[in-house]
Amino acid sequence: MSVKTPITVAKGDGIGPEIMNATLHILLAAGARVDIEEIEIGEKVYLRGNSAGIEKSSIESLLRTKVFLKAPITTPQGGGFKSLNVTTRKLLGLYANVRPCVAYAPYVKTKHPGMDVVIVRENEEDLYAGVEYQQTPDETTSIKIITRAGTERIVRYAFDYARRNNRKKVTCFMKDNIMKITDGLFHKVFDEIGVLYPDIEKEAWIVDIGAAKLADTPEAFDVIVMPNLYGDILSDVAAQIAGSVGLAGSANIGLKYAMFEAIHGSAPRRANQNLANPSGLLLGAVMMLVHIDQPDVAALVHNAWLRTIEDGIHTYDIFKEGISTQKVGTKEFAEAVAARVGKNPEKLKPVSYNAAPKQTVDSHTVAEVSTKQRDLVGIDVFVYHEPGDPNKVGRMLEAVNGDGLKLSVVSSRGVKVYPDPLPDTITSDSWRCRFISSTDNAVVTPQQLLSLLNRVAAAGIAWGKTEHLYNFDGKPGFSAIQGQ
Ligand code: NAD
Repeated sequence: MSVKTPITVAKGDGIGPEIMNATLHILLAAGARVDIEEIEIGEKVYLRGNSAGIEKSSIESLLRTKVFLKAPITTPQGGGFKSLNVTTRKLLGLYANVRPCVAYAPYVKTKHPGMDVVIVRENEEDLYAGVEYQQTPDETTSIKIITRAGTERIVRYAFDYARRNNRKKVTCFMKDNIMKITDGLFHKVFDEIGVLYPDIEKEAWIVDIGAAKLADTPEAFDVIVMPNLYGDILSDVAAQIAGSVGLAGSANIGLKYAMFEAIHGSAPRRANQNLANPSGLLLGAVMMLVHIDQPDVAALVHNAWLRTIEDGIHTYDIFKEGISTQKVGTKEFAEAVAARVGKNPEKLKPVSYNAAPKQTVDSHTVAEVSTKQRDLVGIDVFVYHEPGDPNKVGRMLEAVNGDGLKLSVVSSRGVKVYPDPLPDTITSDSWRCRFISSTDNAVVTPQQLLSLLNRVAAAGIAWGKTEHLYNFDGKPGFSAIQGQ
């Protein structure tokens, strides 16, 4: 007898229990070899005073089984409740979010009948690291973190996913024409890793025009990999234009753990009426079956589901006179899918799955960063001063030149304002004052920077933060100032 894989299941809130029961019914009908540990998450847990929405004992279950099938939850209104999704993503180190966005024309209405795109979104870094500051009354900042290791992991994941699923092309979306260092690294790593996959076509798009193309001609894309923020936005756009927000599932994958869910919420107004469509969660569960090395069962479930959709047996949300043949509730839909286990679709393309772990390159292995020559060449000092006169700020800062350091340029909101300010440049109350060696291209010492800051403080200048300026192998590890 084959061994069952333990999985943790949470039925969630709203329509959650109904769609989870339907999903589990279909999985078991297809012979899924799973041992279910049920935990409670969401509204009831929050309202018991647990701000995370999940008990410690439930977390222990997740850490034990390493596989989480999660129904949507309702986050209660009012402040103080932490997002359960963010908590689990961070707790379990789920670095990859994978969302297939597929059109099922003509059975589900869509403007893009040929669409079959998988969005692979980096899930931990970027502006979502949540490192934000306000240091002056006017200006707020958020730090965008892109690491080489994090990028390598997500890019390898995207290429391995493409290979495993017989996909032909991986596209990278980023914006390295503007964010040359952060998105530049993402693009560079994509190019470097891409070389290891000669069998897969590669292309890179600047995210704005790439997004426009995706919305207009999604058939042109296959797998798309992108940093967190673009991925968050575009995975919703892609699901929506596929015509199938209610049908999309998603996988969140980490080094050790993984979580599978529907992309929609708990739809409280539809709860307890046997109305909800369980398809999104079911397709999330299909990804789970592949992940736990049951690709045979995954294909059985997915093909039975495709056949059901093709037979026109539809829940209210996708029911359409003339296309659908029968309007059914959640339970009846699950029965219809279970009854079709073993059947393939006749019009839609049947799916087949390869086992997950048989990867040629291990997605989780990242190359060691080679040590580079790293030279300290200056410092940006952020000064708090009323908006307005750049000459005043420039002259004030020039007064602290000395000990081999000189003010080279002042910028506000990223734009150069001193020397030679343009009359119409708008400034904020935060001024970035860049000090470099007074000798061309010379390396400076931390002691020189400290004595500069001492002079700044002694002059009564209000400085908030500083950023060291480094060259890596002679190339600046900091952006040039716009207008410089
Ligand atoms: P929602 O996705 O729950 O519902 C949006 C609309 O889609 C509603 O009209 C709903 O009736 C319909 N819908 C959604 N899923 C459906 C399904 N399976 N079958 C049929 N119809 C479906 O979004 P919302 O109303 O903005 O949010 C409701 C709650 O869900 C909120 O508390 C929100 O915080 C939560 N939420 C949870 C998750 C999650 O747990 N992953 C994700 C998003 C929203």
